[in-house]
Amino acid sequence: MKNLIVGCGISGATMARLLADQGEQVVIIDSKNHIAGNIYDYYSDGICVHKYGTHIFHTSNKDVWDFISRFCQWYPYQHRVRGLIDGQIVPIPFNLNSLHSLFPASIANKIEQKLLDNFGMNVKVPILELRKKDDKDLQFLAQYIYEKIFLEYTLKQWGQTPDEIDPSVSGRVPVYISRDDRYFQDKYQGIPIGGYTAMIKNMLNHKNITVKLKTPFSKNMKYDRLFWTGSIDEFFDYRYGQLPYRSERFEFITFPYSRFQDVAVVNYPCNYDFTRIGEYKHFLNDQSDKTIVSYEYPEAFENGKNDRYYPIANDVNAELYHHYLSLAKDMLNVYFFGRLGDYKYYDMDKAVARCLELIKGIK
Ligand code: UDP
Repeated sequence: MKNLIVGCGISGATMARLLADQGEQVVIIDSKNHIAGNIYDYYSDGICVHKYGTHIFHTSNKDVWDFISRFCQWYPYQHRVRGLIDGQIVPIPFNLNSLHSLFPASIANKIEQKLLDNFGMNVKVPILELRKKDDKDLQFLAQYIYEKIFLEYTLKQWGQTPDEIDPSVSGRVPVYISRDDRYFQDKYQGIPIGGYTAMIKNMLNHKNITVKLKTPFSKNMKYDRLFWTGSIDEFFDYRYGQLPYRSERFEFITFPYSRFQDVAVVNYPCNYDFTRIGEYKHFLNDQSDKTIVSYEYPEAFENGKNDRYYPIANDVNAELYHHYLSLAKDMLNVYFFGRLGDYKYYDMDKAVARCLELIKGIK
């Protein structure tokens, strides 16, 4: 069997390895000049920099964790995000610590009690759900969080309000009735020591896998089975029109001092045109007398001008995607997966989980 995999990101590389482990011969191609897709990172001034923005591996899926752990050792990093809200740097997602940082004790205590009475401790409540509560104190809180944390950030990120985009998007960062400041509560979390590129390189380091970079897919290529992690509309020559995506522009700055901010990511929902600043040395505790940060500016994806980052979940796009999916269902021996192939806002672990499932159905 000639297996051709298009796209050398985490999805393509995972599938390559799964096939190779089964004794299959695999060729994996990518039009870019590097492996690892949008999790690509590189070292500069002794700091591991994520070229396409901050990436934190987190999962509660043991199979995924065990699979990835074959290719790296982990630095036990736990992600903490802060946001600049009303002049205070507070934990994001908004939690009980954020509440007490932003409000006088009398108000914070009253609201905390209401949250605990209504939901309980260590419970996650999507902002759009909290807004539905008819208690006036909870309404006040919900409106505050909606305006100060979600509204402008989401307008910058998606060009739409949290009410207009799919609720699952703002639901990724729920209000957390807890004192736990971490961004994720997954059982397994970490950053691969040496970086994601090294991890993907280990994954692809198998006698059955041939990697070809700077190699775009062409219809003349020969294969028995094709694994497509590019955008599904591209495969079908945009027959029904283009699936929309959001993209990002990163402005990287190296500062001649060792620390820029206290945590790896600080969000600026209501200030500036960027959404957040990432400082990379936090991830692996890299020691350097310099520091490298990135300012993140969301923008629309334009074919040929920038890269696809985020599928945009809404009813219109879902319908368009399903037109392509019905074409895909008629294709024998062509498999679509990954964030672009499935047009789904996968985290890294979900992309790997998808491959672990997909391989089961391939003879
Ligand atoms: N979000 C927000 N304010 C924040 C953080 C997140 O409005 O301070 C919303 C925004 O719509 C964002 C979504 O929640 O796109 C998901 O955030 P997440 O941090 O999961 O995005 P990612 O890291 O995948 O870009």
